[in-house]
Amino acid sequence: MRRIMVLGAGYAGLHAVKQLVAQNPDAEIMLINKDVYHYDTARLHEVAVGRTDPSEISFNLREKINPGVTLVIDEVVRIDHDIRAVELRKNGLIFYDYLINALGGASSTPDVPGATGNVLPLITLDDAMRARSHVEQVLTDYRLSQNPYDLRVAVCGDGFSAVAFMAALMHEIPALAKKFDVPAKKMEVHCFASNPRPLYRFDPKLTEWIMEDLGGSGVIFHGSSRVTRIEPGTVFIGNQTFHANTIVWATGIRGSRVVPVSGYVQKFNRVIVNDDLSVVEADGGWPREFVIGDVSAVANPETGRVYPASAQLAIQQADCAVSNVLSLLHGGRTFRFVFKPYGTILPLGPHSGVAQLENSKGKYTRLKGAKVRLLISRMNKYFREAIV
Ligand SMILES: Cc1cc2nc3c(=O)[nH]c(=O)nc-3n(C[C@H](O)[C@H](O)[C@H](O)COP(=O)(O)OP(=O)(O)OC[C@H]3O[C@@H](n4cnc5c(N)ncnc54)[C@H](O)[C@@H]3O)c2cc1C
Repeated sequence: MRRIMVLGAGYAGLHAVKQLVAQNPDAEIMLINKDVYHYDTARLHEVAVGRTDPSEISFNLREKINPGVTLVIDEVVRIDHDIRAVELRKNGLIFYDYLINALGGASSTPDVPGATGNVLPLITLDDAMRARSHVEQVLTDYRLSQNPYDLRVAVCGDGFSAVAFMAALMHEIPALAKKFDVPAKKMEVHCFASNPRPLYRFDPKLTEWIMEDLGGSGVIFHGSSRVTRIEPGTVFIGNQTFHANTIVWATGIRGSRVVPVSGYVQKFNRVIVNDDLSVVEADGGWPREFVIGDVSAVANPETGRVYPASAQLAIQQADCAVSNVLSLLHGGRTFRFVFKPYGTILPLGPHSGVAQLENSKGKYTRLKGAKVRLLISRMNKYFREAIV
């Protein structure tokens, strides 16, 4: 029997598996993931600030995956496209007939000297739990040390996850201060970014609202401040230094570390794909392989710019990759991927948010405040239903 292999149990991989199961192909469906659980990446900031328990944003794959799917819990080390095999850390080589690579992203820390080991990324559930324990530890330390840097958080980055984290943290500060018996008024959150203002490339009105919200809640924004180096407890912006005993790294993501060792044509470890999501030709191409989600780089045909990584993009790519694999399986041709964005929705703490929604005529509606939370609940529900 032929084997369709899906790598990664994030939004992209799990939606692909769900769609494959629904189509009941005459092939084995195999899912490989390094952890036995899935986590909702779009809600990691809630765990990082201690507001939400990790169990609320994750589930055990063995309990939710259709029993007809072969589930392998192991880490992908490399892909050998020529022999159509994936090398796993524990299980060695496993062969496929068709591959959907949805390995997701990794933090983009390596570019900045000293960052690795001295900053807290926010890409995986482990990262979020590490950030949470770190914050709890420095707040505990403060009672003895009275060191003001224990009460300072520096956030490097100004994108989606940085803004969501800062807004959630500002909301949580009174509860944290009470729990750890530290003065809430002395806790500081600073944001360092190379752009002049947060989410620079987004709609200016949304950016203005975000600035108002974060600024109003006390975040100190250091725009046009590119972080050049990190040392334990210190952020360097050129010759200037800033001390904080919690340094969160949220400058965006790169693709999986498997990409550079697997011979793909790539940029920042994100695989450049053809318009049908197959792999850009390398050594004659690998036509039975599709790359989706954060590990892929898909350009907007109108602007030529790569779409920002998002769960909505990952889910729609999974639909296209599944259709293309099934079409090839039946001797057919592949289809072009067309992204239909529904807009941008960003949480600003548990009771607020901003959104820019696009209607079918390409017109935008902007929303802010409590009504956006309803949209966010619906969005999170939609993401969940797309994968289980
Ligand atoms: C804090 C935060 C907030 C966000 N908010 C939003 C939002 O509001 N809306 C939105 O649309 N998007 C949001 N995003 C982006 C969105 O979460 C990602 O685009 C989406 O998770 C991509 O899905 P994916 O399946 O490609 O990757 P992932 O969800 O990262 O899944 C990848 C999977 O592959 C596994 N894996 C990785 N490497 C290996 C390996 N070597 N071997 C085996 N398994 C491996 C991982 O364990 C994981 O299960 C947010 C992201 C972050 C970090």
